[in-house]
Amino acid sequence: MSSKRVVLTFPPEVVEQPVVAIMVKQYEILTNILRAQVHEGEVGRMLVELEGDTKKIRAAIKYLKEIGVTVEDAIRDIALDESSCISCGACTAVCVPGALSLHGEEQELLLNRKKCILCGFCVDACPLQLIKVKF
Ligand code: SF4
Ligand code: SF4
Repeated sequence: MSSKRVVLTFPPEVVEQPVVAIMVKQYEILTNILRAQVHEGEVGRMLVELEGDTKKIRAAIKYLKEIGVTVEDAIRDIALDESSCISCGACTAVCVPGALSLHGEEQELLLNRKKCILCGFCVDACPLQLIKVKF
């Protein structure tokens, strides 16, 4: 038995497929959905913990990739250095769940951790490298 925490990105045409049910039935993997943002006709994102036989997890990930789902290792947390932020908005632009946003006249950057799905996209987006990955 092993477990793996991954971020799944679903293209719009796959969002409505019963992917989680297939993972459970066909691959016998416990799929614990930790965060999800899935809407019909849009790109969907899910942070999931997969638990099961290592070979079956590998096979399930292969299946996901074959149907067009992007599978990335999840990060544990992010750390943000707001004090040096220039409010350029590069990170908010890539934050699909809207966890990062600019507020008020000062365009202060705020992080709503409840919305964050730990995809890590904002880390690469910041030109000043103010967002760090925590594993
Ligand atoms: S890791 Fe960054 S881009 Fe991804 S959801 Fe969290 S704040 Fe947004
Ligand atoms: S990308 Fe970096 S500098 Fe720009 S708003 Fe985000 S944290 Fe601030």
